[in-house]
Order: sequence, then C-alpha cells, then structure tokens
Amino acid sequence: MSEVILKNVSKSYDGKIKSVNDVNLTINDKEFVVLVGPSGCGKSTTLRMIAGLEEITEGQIILDGKVINDIPPKDRDIAMVFQNYALYPHMTVYENMAFGLKLRKLNKDEIKTRVTEAAKVLDLMDYLNRKPKTLSGGQRQRVAVGRAIVRKPKVFLFDEPLSNLDAKLRVQMRTEISKLHKKLDATIIYVTHDQIEAMTMGSKIVVMKDGLVQQVGSPAALYNNPANKFVAGFIGSPAMNFIETTVIELNGIQLQLVNSEIILNIPELHKEKFKNLIGKNIIVGIRPEEIRLEPVGSDYQPVNVKIELIEPMGYESFIYFMIGDIQFTGRVNSINIKNDEKLSTLYINTAKFYFFDKKSERLID
Ligand code: ADP
Ligand code: MG
Repeated sequence: MSEVILKNVSKSYDGKIKSVNDVNLTINDKEFVVLVGPSGCGKSTTLRMIAGLEEITEGQIILDGKVINDIPPKDRDIAMVFQNYALYPHMTVYENMAFGLKLRKLNKDEIKTRVTEAAKVLDLMDYLNRKPKTLSGGQRQRVAVGRAIVRKPKVFLFDEPLSNLDAKLRVQMRTEISKLHKKLDATIIYVTHDQIEAMTMGSKIVVMKDGLVQQVGSPAALYNNPANKFVAGFIGSPAMNFIETTVIELNGIQLQLVNSEIILNIPELHKEKFKNLIGKNIIVGIRPEEIRLEPVGSDYQPVNVKIELIEPMGYESFIYFMIGDIQFTGRVNSINIKNDEKLSTLYINTAKFYFFDKKSERLID
C-alpha cells in the first residue's frame, strides 16, 4: 500500500508569497498522478515537499496514514527522478544503479538481484558494463529511472524527466514510462509543464496555476468539463478559442460579440443559464474541433470569416481566421479542404459552447 495525502499544504520561501497555496490532494495506491501547469506554478516545490527536500510551511503530508513532515528524505521510502539526472560518469551502468543501495548497506546478492531486475524491466541488460557517455540520451534516462526502481520505494516522483530529450525520444519515453507504471504496479507522481504529456500519461491530472490547484480529474473530465477558463485554455491543442460577448434578448436570448455586430445563437439547452444575465458580458469558449467547413446539423451556425492561414498537418489542417477583429483557430479534416477553395464562411457548433464568468473565469453551467 502506498497512498499519499496532501492536507492544506502550503509553501512560502519568503514568508509572504505562497508558491504552493493550500493544496489538498489524494494520490491513491498504484495511481499515476500528473501535476501540470505553466512554469513557476509550484509543481517542483510540491514534489520536493513530498520527497522531503523542501520544508513544508503549512499543512501535512501523509504517507500510508503517517504524517511524514519531519521525516528526513532518506527515510521516506520515496524515490525521485529529476530533469537533470546526473549519472556518475566514471561508474558503469551497473555501478550507477547499485550505488544508492551500497550506501544503504544492502548485501551484494540483494544488490545484484535488484539491479538485474531493474535492468530487465528497462531493457538495459546489454549495457550494464558500459559507462554513461557511451549511451544514448534515452538509455541514460532509463538508467536514472533504474536508480529509483532498485530502491523499491513506496512512491516514485518524476520531475520533468523528459524535458532534456528531443521531441521524438520524448514521445517514446512517454510510452515507456506508462508501460513501466503497469509493470511495476507503482504509485507515481509525475510533474510536467506539457499538457500533452499529462493527458497521455496520467490517470489523474492535477492542473496548477500560481500555487493553486485549479482542477483535479481524468484527462477526459478536464477536456470535457473544465472548471474554469484557465483549465479550458490549457488542456487541448490547439487551445480553445475565447470571445467576449454580451447576453442580449433579441430573437430570444442570444450573444453579441463585444465591439461587433455579430450575433451568435445559443441552443435551447443552454438558454436557461442566461435568464438572469441579460446585458452582462460573458466569455464564450469554442474548441477548434467544433468549427467545420460544412454544417453538420442545426446547431452549426454560419459565420463570415477572413482566412489568415491554413496549416496542413497531414490528416487534419489548422485554419487560422478572423471573426471581426478576433483571431480564431479551427481544426478540420484535411480531406474536406479543396485546393482552390476561397473560404469565407465557417460553421460553429453552438451546442459545444463553453461559458465563463468574465470576472471569476469560472465555468457557468
Ligand atoms: P514549477 O516547478 O511549477 O516551474 P517551482 O515549484 O519551481 O515551479 O516554483 C514555484 C515558485 O516558487 C516560483 O515562483 C519560484 O520562483 C519559487 N521558488 C522555487 N524555488 C525557490 C527557492 N529555492 N527560493 C525562492 N523561491 C523559489
Ligand atoms: Mg519545476
């Protein structure tokens, strides 16, 4: 069993600003949890507090029912893999993986068993006698992970371990770490600033901003039901489009783009939300994939657009266009774009609108 609970955990480095602000979080046994958010939002600080490398200003961290706030890192039974995993250059792969166990005074046979086990899992058996400089970036990364695995910790912490790898290797290692999680049946807390990494790896994702947890949920929950404008804009690529509109009552309840004549319809299912908001401004969110070249049903509203650029991506294309003076991104199946087409109308799926309060930026639902 290895369950981690953060209870009202805060961290301030200077006694004033909270770099981590009142975080409450449960990481269940064997779960793969990803902390994601822009640089400086408090991900590493949170992880380092769990590891014991950073003092906790307020709150409690509980591992398997025991408060570990004051337990030194080496006694926490938690292993961490960093972005800058320095391997010992003069040691072989085997020695690098064995080093921590030697320090812990495990006997030789036990060390050998554990290193061999880890090397098998990580596909490093053929490299045990090599020095790090003869390995590829991905292999070195696996050795760094191996050093954590041999400790058989209750919890693995990863802090942006793939950031230093090139794009292709990053995608490959991403899959490997996901597979490793299944093989080891381990509890993993993984930090990244990359929302695609978060979405593809995590079973539970924690979105952070300015030290605050914005939302916790499965990849699908964050994508389909973002709690606020920040999460809506952060999860999904290309990002959700946002426009400011005024709620008006003309042909029933409609939305008028601010500083524009353009009026958007709202499907019946959404109208109830706006009865008390007439005259108020709200933010409308539209995912690029809800914009089409042709209407697919009555919820698709035509809008006049000015196409700025079409980016062919192979299977799909990104369309950058203007509605009035607002820039939008659409994402359509490439096959539907005809070469000689002069596009001037696109169709927006009004049924898939998201609405956000202008001030609090919370989802209106
Ligand atoms: P992330 O990992 O999400 O990029 P960090 O947890 O490293 O963010 O940092 C969160 C905030 O805490 C940032 O504003 C950063 O400048 C600040 N911070 C991090 N480490 C220290 C430190 N050792 N001393 C002072 N401020 C720090
Ligand atoms: Mg960091």
